[in-house]
Amino acid sequence: MKLCKKCFENKPEVDFYKRKSGTLDGLYSYCIPCTKQNQKEYRQTEVYKKGNTVRVRRWQQKHKKKHGILNRKSQRCFAKKMTNSYIIKRIKGRYNTLNSEQIKQYPELIEATRMNLKIKRLL
Ligand SMILES: [Zn+2]
Repeated sequence: MKLCKKCFENKPEVDFYKRKSGTLDGLYSYCIPCTKQNQKEYRQTEVYKKGNTVRVRRWQQKHKKKHGILNRKSQRCFAKKMTNSYIIKRIKGRYNTLNSEQIKQYPELIEATRMNLKIKRLL
């Protein structure tokens, strides 16, 4: 049994999180419910919230550059709207002998591809 330093209850060792170093018995001095409570309280503090938004922003900036997360998001938006330029891009992907100017001369081809895409998405 071990005494929790927060709720001052004697609890079995299994009710304490294991700790790699710093304590003699290798366990935290607070029981698991108290540790969880502590974390909950900490997450509600302004210091944590502020720190968290900064962390999130930093992560976004780092990954935006690295993987183009925002780009991917706008790409999805672009695909959803099925703009002419998106359709043309798809046609170009399929018939790589055609360029954008040539495709633009065939609005029927653009329309047909758009319809095709719509149907495919419905299925
Ligand atoms: Zn406790």
